Amino acid sequence: MNAAKPPLRLVFLGPPGAGKGTQAKVLEERLGLRQISTGDILRRNVAEGSELGRKAKPYMESGGLVPDDLIIEMMEAELAKDDAFLLDGFPRTVAQARALDAALLRLGKPLTAAVLIDASRPELVRRLTGRWTNPRTGRSYHDEFNPPKTAKIDDEDGGPLVQRPDDTPAVVNERLATYDEKTAPLIEYYRKAGSLVRVDGLGKIADVTSALLRTIGAEKGAPA
Ligand code: AMP
Repeated sequence: MNAAKPPLRLVFLGPPGAGKGTQAKVLEERLGLRQISTGDILRRNVAEGSELGRKAKPYMESGGLVPDDLIIEMMEAELAKDDAFLLDGFPRTVAQARALDAALLRLGKPLTAAVLIDASRPELVRRLTGRWTNPRTGRSYHDEFNPPKTAKIDDEDGGPLVQRPDDTPAVVNERLATYDEKTAPLIEYYRKAGSLVRVDGLGKIADVTSALLRTIGAEKGAPA
């Protein structure tokens, strides 16, 4: 039978450093799913000096969360754009998860799954503090695990790589504490809703991708 596969609509859940952004970029390329990263959108707004960027900056610098109302307004516009998508870094609070449910219901776009990607605390800290990012595309590298061919230069577009200001050890600890307090309750939220699946974020990037594709039933990499 040739029944078309329903569009994939995924939430990536998990602590900072688990590899959500890295895996989201891989799935974006393999499956043609649009990655919607709240962190990337916010960083672009900060760089452009927009009103949203000015409001969000102090929260981001301290490792806390940007207020829900700003994030929800920003994401409602994004969700309307595509039929299939991968949400990276949203929702991060129960209020955001409820707003997402309401928006998807209104748009008639039910979620396929909430994918929890996790790793141990020492591993998360090691990953975050060695990370280098292309601020233009959000693509990230790591000193140790995934170094670019030339130090501090993006393999793809030759652009400069920078270390995120919130990847310093003090801010990383604060971000992990924020995750435990505000975001970890979403694991239970999505478990109760019956949409939670888990993938171990430890190991090589390609192995995590394989596990991820298996878990969401997209092993063959067919377009979403
Ligand atoms: P990320 O790139 O996902 O680690 O996000 C970087 C920072 O942006 C976070 O530490 C928060 O300050 C802010 N941020 C990103 N997504 C959200 C969200 N869904 N809700 C609130 N703040 C967010």
